[in-house]
Amino acid sequence: MLNAKSKRTTKTSKGRVRDAPVTPLRRVVIPRPDVLHNYLEYKQINQYLEYLANRYPHFVQMYTLGLTHERREVRALEINWMNSENVELSPQVREMSPPPFVAATNGRNNAPVVQVGDNCRHTVFIEAGTHAREWISITTALNCIYQLTERYTRNVDVLRKLRFIIVPLVNPDGYEYSRTKNANWRKNRRPQKSSKFVGTDCNRNYDIFWASGSSKNNRNTFKGDRPFSEPETRAMRNILERLSPNLLFFLSLHSYGQSIMYPWGYCREAAFYWRELSSLANSGRSAIKSYNGREYRTGSISCLTKRTITGSVVDYVYGVLKVPMALVMELPARDLGFQPPVEMVSQIGHESWYGIREMCKRSYDLRNQINRSNEPQLPRPARFIADDTNLNGTVNENGTPVTEEHTAGGDNNKTASKKKRVKRTMRTQHEAILKMQKNSKQGPQPFPAGLFPRQLASSAPPIRPGLTRDRRGGGDGAILSSRGKPPVSSTMPIGVFL
Ligand SMILES: [Zn+2]
Repeated sequence: MLNAKSKRTTKTSKGRVRDAPVTPLRRVVIPRPDVLHNYLEYKQINQYLEYLANRYPHFVQMYTLGLTHERREVRALEINWMNSENVELSPQVREMSPPPFVAATNGRNNAPVVQVGDNCRHTVFIEAGTHAREWISITTALNCIYQLTERYTRNVDVLRKLRFIIVPLVNPDGYEYSRTKNANWRKNRRPQKSSKFVGTDCNRNYDIFWASGSSKNNRNTFKGDRPFSEPETRAMRNILERLSPNLLFFLSLHSYGQSIMYPWGYCREAAFYWRELSSLANSGRSAIKSYNGREYRTGSISCLTKRTITGSVVDYVYGVLKVPMALVMELPARDLGFQPPVEMVSQIGHESWYGIREMCKRSYDLRNQINRSNEPQLPRPARFIADDTNLNGTVNENGTPVTEEHTAGGDNNKTASKKKRVKRTMRTQHEAILKMQKNSKQGPQPFPAGLFPRQLASSAPPIRPGLTRDRRGGGDGAILSSRGKPPVSSTMPIGVFL
């Protein structure tokens, strides 16, 4: 609808001529889905974004970033209060503000405008729904959208400083599969080229030390055949690369860890600006605590999750695109699982917005303290340094070097069967002993009883008969490695990975 906008030229009070989008005279009335108290379907999410773009055309614009394997759209909403077409600004302010969205010539608005100037780093990018089963991350992103649009009068202070781009559902195919077939699905739905399995973990598919990720096709964290092999990650890369000169703060929403984390995920070194990142994360943490007492943990990804994670979007944005600030927020909570009861949707959305808004303000305050161009080179993952013989840094998830053919992508069955026969070499005997000791400590143990209270399970959102709801996040080896530990402890590693 909005995509059908045409252009006209308008004269400003100073006599400048500029292009301005024209809204069609006859508007279609779009019903508003109940976004605050439900897990919406993919179609309803789109409908809500369309509703907002239609209702607030003077500061809201919708974009289609790309199409998934099952031909669903990955959509973004731009909320850009400080623009010359915003009728709610005073004429003087409008005159000083940059022009708003420009319709692309093919009639589809596929990319937000990149602004240039001294103060161009003013954009906050929020993404959610990368992992299909993390429904609460999607509703929380929608809550942020709701606050910045329908509740804009309460948030004018942040809207005056920052432009927002929000992608509430990065992986719509996976989400629909999770909603209707298997509630515990994590990856996207594109069949793998190199095996019979379906899906790639989009948060392992970005091009930052990608080779170190899991190449086991059946794993929940399969990294894909190559960096950006997936339509969802390519869509995200395209908009992020394009907008990177404007990006100030990038926030990736996941569940469930009740923690706010900063880079690096791929190595255990501290980021050069870790103090600023920590201060940013702590501002969100304190805001949420003062809102309703919920205690988030903060720290680096590798420190809090007690493992290294390569190919994630947050490391990519921070390490490759050099965005000044980037965080991952793991929403509550272990005892609620990936899909808390619908009654919790509004509460988690509101409390999270309280923290997110505070972090947005803080990122604005920190903007002049961070200059990424002066930073030393990226630290390399420990595994890369240790492996002199393996210069491309290719390792399997045990950290042992593997041969070229082991990660070649397996173009045919012969390669796949060869893979199984490849000998995994231990770097030293000492390391082999350490590994054996570690394995013996983590022998199979039952999942701790009482971790997921019955009353919460019974009030969980309805699922169709026959659906599985495995709150342990079954299928993830690493989740099992944290079994047997106390369910509530500030030092406990996060049971899921972002
Ligand atoms: Zn996740």
